[in-house]
Amino acid sequence: MSVFSEYKKQIMAAAHNERIRLALSRAIATYRANTNSALTKFPHTIKMAEEVREIKEKAIGEMEKLARQACEAIESNKGKAYIAKTADEALKIIGDLVGTGKLIVKAKSMTGEEIGLREYLEELGNEVYETDTGEFIIQKLNSRPMHILSPAIHVPREDVARLFSEITGEELPPDDIERLVATARKLLREKFFQADIGMSGANVVAADTGTLFLIENEGNINLATGAPPVYIALVGMEKLVPTLGDAYKVAEVTWRYANYTVPSYVSMISGPSKTGDIEKMITYGAHGPREFHVIFLDDGRTELAKYPILRQALYCLRCGGCLYECPVFAVTAGHFGDKYFTGVGAVWAAMISQDIEKAASIAYTCLLCGRCKVRCPVEINTPEMMVELKRLIAEGE
Ligand code: SF4
Repeated sequence: MSVFSEYKKQIMAAAHNERIRLALSRAIATYRANTNSALTKFPHTIKMAEEVREIKEKAIGEMEKLARQACEAIESNKGKAYIAKTADEALKIIGDLVGTGKLIVKAKSMTGEEIGLREYLEELGNEVYETDTGEFIIQKLNSRPMHILSPAIHVPREDVARLFSEITGEELPPDDIERLVATARKLLREKFFQADIGMSGANVVAADTGTLFLIENEGNINLATGAPPVYIALVGMEKLVPTLGDAYKVAEVTWRYANYTVPSYVSMISGPSKTGDIEKMITYGAHGPREFHVIFLDDGRTELAKYPILRQALYCLRCGGCLYECPVFAVTAGHFGDKYFTGVGAVWAAMISQDIEKAASIAYTCLLCGRCKVRCPVEINTPEMMVELKRLIAEGE
């Protein structure tokens, strides 16, 4: 079956799936109410988003320079930093660091998803636990994420209850969501402290200090990046901005448009754990990881930055806002996409995954309604990107 036929089959099946529609309608209503109240309470975010667009436009033009600068900063903070030109290079670096037979706790990472990181580590003979509740559900269902921030957005509570009941052998009622969350916590709790390695991505990175910002609510990122003796981060180069101040602005705009007035946790990580409390002798590996590794991934990003219209896909903050506005996503979830979703997903499929058939399928599904553009904090013009992408594909460029 061709990529297009397979895609069509999947997206039509999704569109007729009542459970996806039910789960998404619940999520969309909550998202809209939360984001509107977050923006009303902190109206400066709208102006800050304009600044962030400028920061991103400039940073995308100098990703390689920023990556080198961030590597220097991380090394001077006693971490180790690497630049991977391709997905294979990134996997090789991580594979060499991890080896085999390790227990790994992983925070949600779309960049990890992009390069098939979990599957690769498992093939090497490691045991990998996704620790974000939604991602854990997806891992156990053998499915794939359907939203940037809420990977299990398409899975209604009834299905979660059935899954967790199977795993635990207890009868879990679907309406007791607190109990379902407590079950995930119980299943994962000890893994954080048994793990050899913790892994994550990052929401934004300050090149001047080498600081990774990670936004979350669950607390799993805090534990995955803080409890194991070794911490490895895989970060797409588009996440780099010049300064700590810039990074803060990107982070605040990201979480506000991701529907949080303020998230429960924002981690800023710049190096390995250390203490000078005994005779002022700096010793690495106090309560947190002794080793800190960051891999910056290019994988086509510097090429994509050369396309005047399509480069907007690299400005994306992954706030997920556009997904809740998209009328196609509302009935199909992440089936309208590939590694990423909707219009940005089409650009990603073409330029990063080099899957032109998939890219064309997604681009031609887009209705060009422009609702995503109105919601987007950095005003990514998705309809414009779709028209340009279709032109490039049709002309074979
Ligand atoms: S395209 Fe814009 S609205 Fe959509 S996830 Fe990216 S930053 Fe958020």
